Amino acid sequence: MDAITTEWPEINIGERRVRYKGRIATLTTARKQHRCEVCPEPIKPKENYFSIVMAGSGLGGIKFPDRCHVDCLPNFFKKVKTAKDF
Ligand SMILES: [Zn+2]
Repeated sequence: MDAITTEWPEINIGERRVRYKGRIATLTTARKQHRCEVCPEPIKPKENYFSIVMAGSGLGGIKFPDRCHVDCLPNFFKKVKTAKDF
């Protein structure tokens, strides 16, 4: 497990992988356009974004990752914080 454990609001979005609130966000380069979970702007091809999966759910949990812009990651975790999971 090489994920970096951080506590809100000290998420360092410069890291390639961020672990928080039972999620692991991995910096990825888009190969096609994706929808951002946080803002209305699309994630464009060749743009860096975070792919976010539930931690500890095994490979099956990676099937449907959430995606958001690098700059949107703190807001994604703000949203997660109010969710009932974890
Ligand atoms: Zn966004």
